[in-house]
Amino acid sequence: MTDIRYLAPRTLDEAVGAFAAARGAARILAGGTDLLVQMRAGAVRPGLIVDIKRIAEMTSIEETADGGFRIGAAVSGAVLGEHPRFGQVWPGVLEAVNLIGSTQVQGRASPGGNLCNASPAGDSVPAMIAADAVVTVQGPDGRRQMPVAAVPAGPGRTNLAPGEILVSFTLPPRPRGAGDAYLRMIPRTEMDIAVVGCGVNLTLRDGTCTAARVGLGAVAPTVLLVGEAGKALVGSRLDAAAIEAAAAACRAACRPIDDKRGTIAYRTRIAGVLLKRTVGIAADRAGRA
Ligand SMILES: Cc1cc2nc3c(=O)[nH]c(=O)nc-3n(C[C@H](O)[C@H](O)[C@H](O)COP(=O)(O)OP(=O)(O)OC[C@H]3O[C@@H](n4cnc5c(N)ncnc54)[C@H](O)[C@@H]3O)c2cc1C
Repeated sequence: MTDIRYLAPRTLDEAVGAFAAARGAARILAGGTDLLVQMRAGAVRPGLIVDIKRIAEMTSIEETADGGFRIGAAVSGAVLGEHPRFGQVWPGVLEAVNLIGSTQVQGRASPGGNLCNASPAGDSVPAMIAADAVVTVQGPDGRRQMPVAAVPAGPGRTNLAPGEILVSFTLPPRPRGAGDAYLRMIPRTEMDIAVVGCGVNLTLRDGTCTAARVGLGAVAPTVLLVGEAGKALVGSRLDAAAIEAAAAACRAACRPIDDKRGTIAYRTRIAGVLLKRTVGIAADRAGRA
């Protein structure tokens, strides 16, 4: 077995420097709940591990001056769940993050790791996409921002450039009357991978939907932003016809695989069912916000 070097820098510049210098032979370690499993299975053999959890910006949560949130990429689900305000403002994003694994896994697993692992079934990703979250990444050429939906490139692959590290998520401020929700379908009651995951974020004004975004997971090589589903809801009073049109848009967007968790036909059908249920929860929350 080859030696593995382990670094736990305190600054992002050090982390980026070491990560970039390793030229693809390094891996970032956040919670390790994907990385260590992959290393144990022999699927990944990094020469260098760069642990980002000692970098303050990676592990902090801030409410921004405009009322949005900045969440460090390595914040665990457990820490996010204990934040006094985050779950009130973004209950759908929090329920998606908190669905990842068990209590033990929650103490480690981060939304940054969930996104960078680039599984099409990652639970936090559809909710982040629905929330219109943007990520900040830093690499040898500096910092840039990209929408969450632009990060996954395919199963296990991202669009981060060589040497780039995901630093944080920024979630926008919430208007009055906004609500979000996330639901997934799994064959068991917990500790399983989504057969379909659906995140919905919408705004209601006097009963009319003025904004809506839908993220769908586990139905294509990457998590999808289903623009047509959002469009079908906007301008409606979330009547049955509008919700059915959004469900049809979700079914049309599906390009799933057939596997032991579900056939193509099953996943496609469930995408529409979950859309309807998730819209109902998000609308209920929006009505109370
Ligand atoms: C028992 C168990 C149950 C699970 N259940 C679920 C579930 O229900 N739903 C679900 O979606 N997932 C589940 N997972 C998978 C895993 O827990 C999640 O994907 C988790 O969010 C990964 O976060 P992490 O911080 O542990 O990532 P890590 O394992 O540290 O990293 C994951 C990958 O992302 C890269 N990476 C991490 N952070 C960064 C960064 N900031 N910049 C660049 N690259 C980075 C790493 O190099 C690695 O390739 C489960 C895993 C286990 C072991």
